[in-house]
Amino acid sequence: MAPVKNKPLTKKQLDQLKEKLLEERQTLIQSASVNAEELGLTTNVDVSDEVDAAVADYEGSQMLRFKNRELFYIKKIEKALKKIDANEYGECTECDGMIKFERLLARPTADLCIQCKEEAEREESSNIYGRMSKSMGKTIDLSSGAAAR
Ligand SMILES: [Zn+2]
Repeated sequence: MAPVKNKPLTKKQLDQLKEKLLEERQTLIQSASVNAEELGLTTNVDVSDEVDAAVADYEGSQMLRFKNRELFYIKKIEKALKKIDANEYGECTECDGMIKFERLLARPTADLCIQCKEEAEREESSNIYGRMSKSMGKTIDLSSGAAAR
């Protein structure tokens, strides 16, 4: 699939999206009652390893499994914030095209452009076993994305 050549995000757009991500993370932490301190989210943005560890620790815990969706979404937000700092935010992980600002505004954690996303959803619905062959992160990305719509 050919990359879509959208304009790179401006500094202003990036700032807007970053603010949105931070806001969403805050709301999520509050509403999910995730132990933010335990996850290291309050002091340091660069915590994806700790979040990984936390998610791993929580696996098997029935009470906290309930919160896995929130944890994974927070993880996605962390990833997006990291990408902003690394100047990689807004690029489609599949085709390296730029994701449209409007799409990011609606879903700031999106890491696929709309074409690749639709492609992935088609694949997912046409082959249920396709999900199982994909990486854990990818599977969660697809399912949480579908559920959010
Ligand atoms: Zn793409």
